[in-house]
Amino acid sequence: MPTEHDGRPAAVRAPVTFSFDVEPHRPDPADDTSYPVVTRRVYEWLAERGIRGTVFVVGTTALANPALVTEAVAAGHEVGLHSWDHTPLTELSPERFTDETRRGKALLEDLVGEAIVGYRAPTFSLVRRNVWVTDVLAELGFTYSSSVLPARSPLHGFPGLPREPFTWPSGLVELPCPIARLGPLAMPFLGGVYLRVLPWPLVSLTWRVNGGGPAPLTYCHPYDFDTDEPFWVVPGTGRLGSRLLWIGRGRMFAKLERLFAHGAGPPLRELLHTADPVGAHAIPGVPS
Ligand SMILES: [Zn+2]
Repeated sequence: MPTEHDGRPAAVRAPVTFSFDVEPHRPDPADDTSYPVVTRRVYEWLAERGIRGTVFVVGTTALANPALVTEAVAAGHEVGLHSWDHTPLTELSPERFTDETRRGKALLEDLVGEAIVGYRAPTFSLVRRNVWVTDVLAELGFTYSSSVLPARSPLHGFPGLPREPFTWPSGLVELPCPIARLGPLAMPFLGGVYLRVLPWPLVSLTWRVNGGGPAPLTYCHPYDFDTDEPFWVVPGTGRLGSRLLWIGRGRMFAKLERLFAHGAGPPLRELLHTADPVGAHAIPGVPS
């Protein structure tokens, strides 16, 4: 039902799909007891609103907390793989990536009881130099990936890729991290640290101008909602980066409430039938 929202018909913007990267906050999952609590808090929040999304789980996290996987399925969410142990793809050899991804997929399939078809790279670390992973993912039976940030980024980015869903030469569909253009800037705005740190009026304006494409998705992590965690300096992230990982957590649920005010999109695998991926030949700079 088209309704007016922020001065523009809501029908112009596809509803946003919720995706959730379930991973520990701390380097040692054995020391971290807070992320299962926060993960369940998010599951409950979604269930109260009838929202189904996609829950990407790290393999070692599924080993440590298999109930977080089965509870996601029981709540109607799709489960996807979020790597074996959250090592960025930029640090993995093809052999290690293949072995670990196969192991993680099998583990989740044992828990879920059906094929796992979705993959998300840690920190959107699918970049130009490791585009070979898209062949491996297709060979292992994945049908889609949500692993690229199609812009320059302080961490991992893949500028030059389409901002819309597209198909890799292997046939794997890619659902990119939504990117907004505001003048000369191209940056994410709908998930993670960006959604958490940017003031809602700016997110709303950006969404109104950019729409987020035919398959907009938000992506969150348990820590995005953990208001009880004291500030700490995350190894390798520095004080400023750690501060960005920490601030704005108390406003996350309120922001999602506004993001989903007119409904939520379906789990990502259900979007594959509607997102109309363009041909791989349209991808600049990717060998076919
Ligand atoms: Zn992650």
